[in-house]
Amino acid sequence: MQNIERDVVIVGAGPAGLTAALELKKTGKTVAILEARDRVGGRTWTNTIGGATIEIGGQWISPDQTALYSLADELGIETYPRWKEGASVFIDHDGKRTVYTGEDFPVGEATVGEIDKLIAIMDELAAQVNPDKPWEHPEAKELDTISFHHWLESKTSDPVAVECVGLFIAGGMLTKPAKTFSALQALLMAASAGSFSNLVDEDFILDRRMSTTMQGVSLKMAERIGAEDIFLNNPMLRLEWSDDSVVAHGKDVSVSAKRVIMAIPPNLYTRPSYEPPLPRWQQVTHQHQSMGLVIKVHAVYDRPFWREQGLSGTCFSPSSLVQEVYDNTFLNDPRGTLVGFVSDEKADAMWALGEEERKTAILESMAAFLGEETLNPEVFYLSDFGSEEWTRGAYATSYDLGGLHRFGPTQNDAVGPIYFASSDLAGEGYQHVDGAVRMGRRTAARIVAELDGGSYDESFDGAVSPFVKA
Ligand SMILES: Cc1cc2nc3c(=O)[nH]c(=O)nc-3n(C[C@H](O)[C@H](O)[C@H](O)COP(=O)(O)OP(=O)(O)OC[C@H]3O[C@@H](n4cnc5c(N)ncnc54)[C@H](O)[C@@H]3O)c2cc1C
Repeated sequence: MQNIERDVVIVGAGPAGLTAALELKKTGKTVAILEARDRVGGRTWTNTIGGATIEIGGQWISPDQTALYSLADELGIETYPRWKEGASVFIDHDGKRTVYTGEDFPVGEATVGEIDKLIAIMDELAAQVNPDKPWEHPEAKELDTISFHHWLESKTSDPVAVECVGLFIAGGMLTKPAKTFSALQALLMAASAGSFSNLVDEDFILDRRMSTTMQGVSLKMAERIGAEDIFLNNPMLRLEWSDDSVVAHGKDVSVSAKRVIMAIPPNLYTRPSYEPPLPRWQQVTHQHQSMGLVIKVHAVYDRPFWREQGLSGTCFSPSSLVQEVYDNTFLNDPRGTLVGFVSDEKADAMWALGEEERKTAILESMAAFLGEETLNPEVFYLSDFGSEEWTRGAYATSYDLGGLHRFGPTQNDAVGPIYFASSDLAGEGYQHVDGAVRMGRRTAARIVAELDGGSYDESFDGAVSPFVKA
């Protein structure tokens, strides 16, 4: 066992932990990062599979994600647009396939009207919600104790409109059934992206990608931090703490430090043991944020054949197994890649099948949108974060019904020298890499102010780096 000393020990080398380390080092603080996996990047992860570049985890950046844009600038990383040209495909409840252009789903005039009405209500409420403090909304308790599905049903009697609007937040974002999380949680998701209209606009929310891939952002940060300060294959198993110091015990390195940043998803906070145990409130709170579950499907073809039919590759169907499909061809790749998503209970059903059956079911669902050629990809790969010990789901965590207004107000409170930072605790950029960057910057700034006797501006949003390299 190696014993080392640093100013700050960081648990987790995902985007939040690496950003915090990068900022702390700019002020001359010494850091060590304990990372459980054999790589950095956490829920952002790229692999070459069958010769194709596959972004297994997070990949897209949208215009509101200014913190991630500023980090990309700082690291010299460029972005490129997702392929969006051509018509989209929609499959309705009865299996009817429609090729369409424009923003509205082809679901009949009356339903389009109801969808627009629901989006307008969501936009109005989201504008009243401070993403950093959604629990301060005057109706927070009421909104947090009704499921998103039932709340939508209270606003319209059109079940198709409820299903279509539910798709964006339930299947598309929180990856939990719309009956299992609250309307307030849905509003936080909308407010964190600027508005609900932003979330439902795939051209906005899935706007661009990183030329290095999204994991490349973490790899570049790791390069700047230095390999000597990053301890891979070192899950933190035990944390000893007092009022102003910690000893973080990894698998084969122990770090004595003044502060620790837990830059891991909240569903894993209970994984290490704490000596002494965390106070009652944190022990209770940390049980109420759980991971959603989604399968990200990657299918690579010899060419992007759908473009030849004037199709963009964008497909939606709230009732299909694969609810969303997009053209996901990597920068300058002559081959064509589709990405699809199988969410929550549909994902459960898929993991219950054997490998071949699962592949057939998923490809048949995608072929219903884009035709027979979809059935024969050269490469087929399923992202399976649910089976990853150091994540346990995808994309991120959210509160159970009623949990956000009850436990949210203290979720970012430090416990003595222990700080919590993750995209799952962010306001702006919640559940996204942008939120991880903001949390990393904000937590680093809080710790520097505390250690150096300075002041921390609670309104700092992490959009820009707080420190210039000394
Ligand atoms: C399939 C998928 C698709 C996504 N798509 C997008 C997208 O398109 N755009 C977007 O912006 N976001 C997307 N996201 C979300 C984004 O990836 C996350 O918000 C972001 O990675 C969170 O960063 P983080 O640092 O807070 O946590 P993580 O990335 O989870 O990093 C936490 C790190 O902590 C480590 N760890 C855990 N426990 C321990 C321990 N005890 N000791 C030491 N280390 C530990 C983990 O191994 C991990 O490396 C997606 C996520 C998934 C899974």
